[in-house]
Amino acid sequence: MPHRRPVPIARVGFVGGGQLARMMVKAARRLGCWTLVLDPTPRSPAGQVSDEQIVGAFHDPDALRQLAERVDVVTLDLEDVDTASLRQLQAEGTTVRPDPALLAVLQDKLTQKQRFADAGFPTLPFVACPEPGPEAFEAFGYPLVQKARRGGYDGRGVAILRGPESLDRMLPVPSLLERFVADAREVSVLVARGVDGDVRSYPPTEMTFRAGDNVLDLLVSPARLPERLTDRCTELARAVVDELDGVGIFGVEFFIDRDDKAWINEIAPRPHNSGHHTFEACATDQFEQHLRAVLGLPLGSTEQFVPAALVNLLGAGTGRGAPVVEGLHEALAMPGVSVHLYGKREARPGRKMGHVTVVDRDRDVAMDRARAVRATLKIGAEES
Ligand code: ADP
Repeated sequence: MPHRRPVPIARVGFVGGGQLARMMVKAARRLGCWTLVLDPTPRSPAGQVSDEQIVGAFHDPDALRQLAERVDVVTLDLEDVDTASLRQLQAEGTTVRPDPALLAVLQDKLTQKQRFADAGFPTLPFVACPEPGPEAFEAFGYPLVQKARRGGYDGRGVAILRGPESLDRMLPVPSLLERFVADAREVSVLVARGVDGDVRSYPPTEMTFRAGDNVLDLLVSPARLPERLTDRCTELARAVVDELDGVGIFGVEFFIDRDDKAWINEIAPRPHNSGHHTFEACATDQFEQHLRAVLGLPLGSTEQFVPAALVNLLGAGTGRGAPVVEGLHEALAMPGVSVHLYGKREARPGRKMGHVTVVDRDRDVAMDRARAVRATLKIGAEES
């Protein structure tokens, strides 16, 4: 007998109503789910497309309880969640995926790296650094990377310290110190894992950086890697998500050093920026895949049919206010271009306001066109 179930097939709750939740909500509704978002901003990006939104703080235990009481499964848009409240709700019978116990390990960069190291995965040498300062840095040795265990400081969670002269960059918060990799290439692999342990991975995506200032240039998929490294990163990513018993989609980030050795950097327990092209380029997009995983549905094919390049649309200019988009007609006139705007009601300099995916059978053409789009399409606050 085929499965039968009433429609909506499930009620899904999202902690956080940002762009990731917005894209997950759309996937959920397409699959026949009813959706509820918890976010402090009325008409948040996800709230605009959801059946309903609760206006409340992510960390408010009462708001989380209200969310849990109205849905069959709770999932999230951000990892900085109140795992203690979620564990309490789980103990009372709410299904939370991924598991809050895993989220608690992953939301602290130190416990996350310890977990990789304990399980024998290659991760860059590191030490705990409860009290950052010159002594701790000298003892570990420069150049080093200081990473705040949680949240960061003044919006910064990572400081590259090349020597004692860069001490002014130090983050005054409990941290870990990690070996600096010169000329690291950055690759990520999206892995979905179902309730039944089925594991599916997407082809690796490469983050490219501008020479000189090391600012993110664009994302390109499949990554330009020799087959051996593609296989190595894929195998490690699948193995680590399996080892963690993760359920949902996970972005597994790697550094590749000059000797072509792959090191696991970190894992995001949610859809990832490096997987946004899956909408246009793959059989199943990462957001639908996440929903399938957390709802216990069969996972979809991860086959990629066409190369893709992606640029983020960051708030331009210096002001904040209602967003205005410039160059949309010109961008959409280019072949293979898809524009995604996130519905944020206020533009701020540097804020992620949307992204653009470009697909083309020729990866280099997709990359060039993505740069052309970025030069053309701007979104920023309206000039007063
Ligand atoms: P997050 O994504 O949480 O901000 P990451 O660990 O990805 O933190 O670090 C942010 C950026 O800092 C990376 O994309 C990379 O460019 C640089 N970086 C981080 N760790 C290292 C390292 N060990 N060696 C060289 N560069 C690093």
